[in-house]
Amino acid sequence: TNIQLLPLINEIIEENICVSETNQKVILKSNLDIKNYYMDSIMIRHIFNNIISNAIKYSSKNITIDLNEIDNKKIEFIIKDRGIGIPDDEIKYLLDPFYRASNRGAVQGTGFGLSIVKRFVDLHKGQMLIESVVDKGTAVTITLPYLQQ
Ligand code: ATP
Ligand code: MG
Repeated sequence: TNIQLLPLINEIIEENICVSETNQKVILKSNLDIKNYYMDSIMIRHIFNNIISNAIKYSSKNITIDLNEIDNKKIEFIIKDRGIGIPDDEIKYLLDPFYRASNRGAVQGTGFGLSIVKRFVDLHKGQMLIESVVDKGTAVTITLPYLQQ
């Protein structure tokens, strides 16, 4: 379907901030206009909801999101938190269903989110990169090509 990405991302941020117990802020920077993007709305919602909810769940500090259109052919979404991070040797397991990092603490989750995100990103012929340092924070970069209308 045709998706207006910027309002959708803002909506997802609001929904997640509402249920968060800390009062961290999400700072969104974007060069997107009101153009529609031809993407699957259910998959897109799942992708961004899980990545944004993870950043909020596993961090109590402010989060930054950069959402930009590149070369008129793809969307680049970069989300950075300054939270608990993920141990280096565990990053490769995050895409396995049920896998949760050993430092997750008391934060609730099923460990399904990222494995579904990865599959949905693949279906969009996109890419995902997870970079993280324990106790410093995590950056997730997702690029999604879109069809020209
Ligand atoms: P679900 O998304 O199914 O509700 P979940 O958030 O635990 O549960 P995933 O989204 O798949 O599952 O994430 C897998 C694991 O990766 C998490 O349990 C957590 O240990 C780690 N993780 C993911 N994102 C972050 C992050 N931003 N900071 C620190 N750890 C993270
Ligand atoms: Mg999750």
